[in-house]
Amino acid sequence: MKKVIKRIEELAKDIGKDINLMEVCGTHTQAVARAGIRELMPKNIHLTTGPGCPVCVTAQEDIDAIVNLALAGIPVATYGDMLRVPGYYGSLDDAREKGAKVFSVYSVEEALERLNDYPDLVFFGLGFETTAPMTACAIQRGLTVYSTHKLFVPAMKALLKIGELKIDGFISPGHVSTIIGVKPYEGMGVPQVITGFTPEDILVGIYMLLRQIKEGQANVENEYTRSVRKEGNRTAYKIIFDVFEIADGNWRGFGVIPKSGLEIRKKFSRYDAKVKHKDILDKVDFGKSRHPTPCKCGEIIRGLKEPKDCPVFGKVCRPESPIGPCMVSVEGACNVAYRYEKQ
Ligand code: SF4
Repeated sequence: MKKVIKRIEELAKDIGKDINLMEVCGTHTQAVARAGIRELMPKNIHLTTGPGCPVCVTAQEDIDAIVNLALAGIPVATYGDMLRVPGYYGSLDDAREKGAKVFSVYSVEEALERLNDYPDLVFFGLGFETTAPMTACAIQRGLTVYSTHKLFVPAMKALLKIGELKIDGFISPGHVSTIIGVKPYEGMGVPQVITGFTPEDILVGIYMLLRQIKEGQANVENEYTRSVRKEGNRTAYKIIFDVFEIADGNWRGFGVIPKSGLEIRKKFSRYDAKVKHKDILDKVDFGKSRHPTPCKCGEIIRGLKEPKDCPVFGKVCRPESPIGPCMVSVEGACNVAYRYEKQ
């Protein structure tokens, strides 16, 4: 590791200007903080966090929709962290306290098992190309889903297009890349390195990015060759697109990003909660979902602010009393900063 750090220092000196590298994967957010990699960086190399936490980027409107379904008597299941994300109408946990049937599950398989007792159960599906294949399989097997699944690359392109932060390189997501492969990242005009999750992987990824920056390149390199194949996982891809079609996606911090969402195809519409429970959803006042809140997650997701920039970080807002999703999720920037960097 010492050797790589030395090479990073040499490259940083040669480059001689401030460089922003963004990691866009929740697991990288955790790994960077856990290993103290930020502190190892030369002064002019800045590591920022992007929209890689699936819970954090789930739009307030979708949280309000699923909470309203639960409050209307529809049994709901989803992954644990999501239960605690507060929306305008409260969280799924709050709905459960009011008597709604809300279940925390570790996998869609567990949600499928619950269908025996709760045939009307709706699974709140979230995440990127990594979790979408499992949800797609479950829909094929008869699970009703409210889909907030998203495609990752459009968010990276949106960040570059918005241009609020100068991004000099992406530490591109390892998990998503196991499914989508290397090609979808091409043509963005910034250096990228698909990187694994050990401290060594991340440091080598940073080194590879700085090497590209120094040489004026903007390529997509793959450091995580032990898991990511150039063509990705075509079987998983096929399952995703058998069940889902590409639609506009609603992201916290961004709003609607064209062609970044995965909606259930018409042939599976009997398992689409947005179709099945349209009568309930049509009555929800989503204008309230857009009420401004003091939470800075949106700006943190876009790399514009750090958790410590939020006045309530670590005070009122803590993992046991979270105000926003970035403090709820173990992959959220605020939660990670609280656990690894606050002291
Ligand atoms: S500390 Fe809490 S309120 Fe502030 S940005 Fe993070 S999650 Fe939102």
